This record gives sequence, structure tokens and C-alpha cells, in this order.
Amino acid sequence: MNDVDVVVIGSGIAGLSAANSAWESGLKRVLIAESEGVVGGSSRLSGGIVMGAPTRFQQAAGIADTADALFNDYMAINQWMVEAGVVRTYCNEAGPTVDWLGDLGVQFHDELIFGGGEIVPRCHCAVNNGQGIIDALHAKARERDIDIALGQRVNRLLVENGRVVGVAVGDDEIRAGAVIVASGGFSLNKERLAELYPAAAAMGDWLWYIGADGARGDALDFVEPLNAQIIGQNRGLRLLHPNFINAVEPFLPGWMVLVNKHGQRFGTESAPYGVMDGFMRAQGDVAYVIFDDLVLHPERGPQVATYKQSIPGRGAERHNANWNAIMVEDMVKAGRIKSSDTIEGLAQELGLPKEKLAGTIARYNAGAHAGVDDYNKEEKFLRPLENPLFYGAEVRPATLCFTAVGMRIDSQARVLNDIGEVIPGLYGAGECTGGIIGDRYVGSGNSLSNGATFGRIAGRSVGTTFHA
Ligand SMILES: Cc1cc2nc3c(=O)[nH]c(=O)nc-3n(C[C@H](O)[C@H](O)[C@H](O)COP(=O)(O)OP(=O)(O)OC[C@H]3O[C@@H](n4cnc5c(N)ncnc54)[C@H](O)[C@@H]3O)c2cc1C
Repeated sequence: MNDVDVVVIGSGIAGLSAANSAWESGLKRVLIAESEGVVGGSSRLSGGIVMGAPTRFQQAAGIADTADALFNDYMAINQWMVEAGVVRTYCNEAGPTVDWLGDLGVQFHDELIFGGGEIVPRCHCAVNNGQGIIDALHAKARERDIDIALGQRVNRLLVENGRVVGVAVGDDEIRAGAVIVASGGFSLNKERLAELYPAAAAMGDWLWYIGADGARGDALDFVEPLNAQIIGQNRGLRLLHPNFINAVEPFLPGWMVLVNKHGQRFGTESAPYGVMDGFMRAQGDVAYVIFDDLVLHPERGPQVATYKQSIPGRGAERHNANWNAIMVEDMVKAGRIKSSDTIEGLAQELGLPKEKLAGTIARYNAGAHAGVDDYNKEEKFLRPLENPLFYGAEVRPATLCFTAVGMRIDSQARVLNDIGEVIPGLYGAGECTGGIIGDRYVGSGNSLSNGATFGRIAGRSVGTTFHA
């Protein structure tokens, strides 16, 4: 006799979606085991941006979009190097899942935003960010009498004849008809980072993880005896990080110039952060930002935009955490931001080739005066760097947002073993899975939507099997 119909491991967006969906598919004895003392995992701390198309929120905003368009963009951005069948399901279901989140009480701002290079906006911004999503899903779970056991760190799966039949927290065992793993990533686990996400481990002392405490990669341990297939090697999301402070600023201000070790530009400074990670890998993960005195005295020069767009519900200024006048002045004094009255002098301070950096800035300035840019940066950002002092600082992709290496699932969120067989009774969703999020993060909004979509699918799949 089972203690419950289904156990969900983890109470982030994937786990709460899975539990609510299982309940909707007719399972009334649903238990969520959460290792920490608080519900919500990294989802709770997140920006609350969820991607999906088409949705009723898009429709209300007059935006025409399709799942096909999302799929085409997704595959192109990732150069087809994702699990295409599962991604097709994801793209088909992401839009309806955003609507479903709305049905469960998640509130989204009327205005949608662009995540990257898509033709129409398809990123939905939750009111009160990630906490707003978690609060709504949690409230719905309580209303439905879904049990949430806090402080219960699952460390073992119960397996009988190859079938997963429950979980264990130390000596306490709970038998269930199925188990849905939604235990998040492994960003806090140094050994796992070195093994599975070496690009993050390579950030060494610079590495700064901004997610929740539960991200120890426990699932990797407890699914190992079942030979679960682990895919998505070296994937996740790293954001640019300056050499002086731990503060989240996902986008670079568009008025900066970003150069590599050779003093040359290599990409659009205002590019989406999901793309910036890849740019940086191609440059050996080290670059330098260059700017001038107008950062300290904006009133002395032409007014230009800082970011491509603002996020509904958040002030624009709040996000300029690193590159504002107060911070720059302090960090120049601390010797972390270098300065000089000439570009050549700045190059010397930063250890960059003088002629190349001077040439790069001269060409950038000529373009800025003409309103054009070699990297197609929008005119609204263009401001020549010709007001000494000139400033520069080293940046690396060292702010670790999440990991994307994990269990391989099929389109029904069933976990596969290393010979491609379904592991009976075991389902997965969210950051603990691999193969859906690719080398390029399609976002904002890719990860929460992945968690919600496959959480919802997992709950439904368990329900279908249960009633079969
Ligand atoms: C600051 C920040 C901002 C972000 N902003 C966005 C955004 O706007 N849009 C977007 O798409 N993505 C965003 N992301 C990424 C996204 O938030 C995460 O990838 C996503 O929330 C993961 O959801 P999840 O449910 O899989 O994992 P989590 O939300 O991390 O939930 C996993 C849960 O499992 C628990 N757990 C772990 N091990 C065990 C165990 N052994 N037993 C029981 N429980 C366990 C954890 O404690 C945790 O509560 C952001 C991330 C961060 C850190």
C-alpha cells in the first residue's frame, strides 16, 4: 500500500507545477518533500520572467505569435544542438503553461518583453518577480491539500524490480505510486561543477552563485544507481561579472565598449545575456569594458539609453548596479577600475595592446558620430568615448545563475536510463534535467518556463499512468 500517490522532490516552480498538475489529473494524495525550511528554491529568488507562445497575455497585448515561431527561434539560436523532440513538446506546451500559471493565480504585468532576438515579445513578467509565482502556486497547493514537508532532504530513491516506488529521508521511507524529481541544479557543488560544468568551475575565485541553497545536485547522486542518463554537458547560464563587486546586472550598459585581450571588439555590447555567455567563451572568458567620464558626469554629454528595454514593475536605475557614478568613483579609488587621460594610457593600465585599443575606440567613435556601428548596436546607445578620463575594468562570465546539466527526459517527462529506456515510476522537471536548455540561453524566461512546462507535463503523465 502506498503512503501517497506521488512524491515530488523540491518546491520550486517545477515541483509546485508538478504537484498542482498531478492533483488536477485526479491524484489527491500528493506530497512535496523540500529540503530547505522555505518553499520556492531558486524560482523564488528569480526575476519571474516566463517565456511562452502563444498566450492569452500576448493576445491581450495585441501580439500575434505561434508555437512554431518559438520552436524555430529556439532551434536556430541553439544551432539544433538540443533534444529536438522534447524541445518541440516544450515549445508546444510553454504557451498553454503560461496561461495555466495565470489560471492558478500567477499575475503577469500587461506589458511583455523581448528575451533576445525574437520578432515579437513573448516573455511574461510576473508581478512581484519569482516570489509572486511561488506565492500563487504555493497558495493553490495549500488550497488543494497538497502536503509540503519542509526540511526533508531526500537522499535515496526506493526501488523495487527496477521501478521507483518511493523516497527516503535518512531512515524514513515513503512509498508512492511515482516520484517526480524537481530538485533544481548543482551550482553550489564544486565537484559536480568541475565534472559537469567546467566552464563555470573555471571561474575559480571569481565565481559567484546567485541562486538558492538547495542547489547541491542531490538528484545526481540519488538517480545514479538507476543509471539515469545525464545530458547537457557544460551548460547553464553565466552572467558578466566585474572584477570588483558581487551585484547582479545581467545586461551591460549599451554605452560601453567591450573588448577582448587584443583590445578589439567582438560583439554587440547590448546583446542579450544568454548570448553574451557564448561570446565570452569564444574569447577565453576574459574581456574588458571601456567607457569615459560621461558616466560620472552624464549632464556634460548627449543622453543615451543604458538598456534595450526596462522590465515592467522594476525601476531602470536599480539594475545599473555596477556601472554608476558612485560605484565607478569608489572602484577607481580602490584600484579595481583603471583610469587614464588617454586611451593609450588606459590600455597600458589594463595590459592591453595600445595601438589596437586606440584604433578600436577611434573606429567606434567615428561610427558613433555617424550613428552607425560595426556590430549593429542601436543608435540610441551610441556615444563616442572622447571625454577623459577614460576608464576600463576586467569582466568575466562569473555570476552563476543556474546549471542545465541533468537527467534526460522524454516528451512525457519520464526519466531515461543510459540505454534509452524509461525508468518506471521516475519523472523529472526543471533545472535537474538536461537537453532542453542549450548552449544559448533563450531568455529571459527559458528556465522558469522549462520548469513549469515539464512540471505540468510530469504531473499529467503520472496521473495518466495512475488511472490507466
Ligand atoms: C537571481 C536569479 C534570477 C533568475 N531569473 C530568471 C527569470 O527571470 N526567468 C527564468 O526563466 N529563469 C530565471 N532564473 C533561473 C531559474 O530561476 C531557475 O533555473 C529555476 O527557478 C529552477 O527551477 P526548479 O524548480 O527546477 O528549481 P528550484 O526553484 O531551485 O527548486 C528546487 C527545489 O528543490 C529543493 N531540493 C534540492 N535538493 C533536494 C532534496 N534532496 N530533497 C528535497 N528537496 C530538495 C531545493 O531546496 C529547491 O527548493 C533565475 C535564477 C536566479 C538565481
